[in-house]
Amino acid sequence: MSADATEQDCIFCAIARGDIPSDDVYADDQVVAFRDINPQAPSHVLVAPRRHVVSIDGLKDDQALLGQVMAVAVKVAQAEDLSESGYRLATNHGRDGAQSVGHLHVHVLGGRALSGRLG
Ligand code: 5GP
Ligand code: ZN
Repeated sequence: MSADATEQDCIFCAIARGDIPSDDVYADDQVVAFRDINPQAPSHVLVAPRRHVVSIDGLKDDQALLGQVMAVAVKVAQAEDLSESGYRLATNHGRDGAQSVGHLHVHVLGGRALSGRLG
């Protein structure tokens, strides 16, 4: 896993910079959103801050950016037309949270009936 990647070798920093290709669905000066390379649902988008933050555990004191990331996640879900059918927002932290990429991202999942199980 690359959860301890530094900014220089972070795949999501490279995506945010446009250095590696991604299927983008949203971008502003603080936040990017792009389709997951290995989608677990018909709609599976990752919402990430441009700034290298390892996980939500490191963002708890930045409520402004936390709010921006979550607001973009909702915007993406609505743009994917998921409001009526429903969707899930999820973010993982650390080993037991099964985080595999060490740059904060919120998963937007929808387009099928998701399991009620969370782990
Ligand atoms: P995590 O397990 O850290 O919560 O989620 C990481 C997600 O990033 C996984 O769903 C994985 O498929 C996705 N992912 C990993 N590498 C890439 C990549 O290079 N591009 C994109 N678009 N998604 C990626
Ligand atoms: Zn990063």
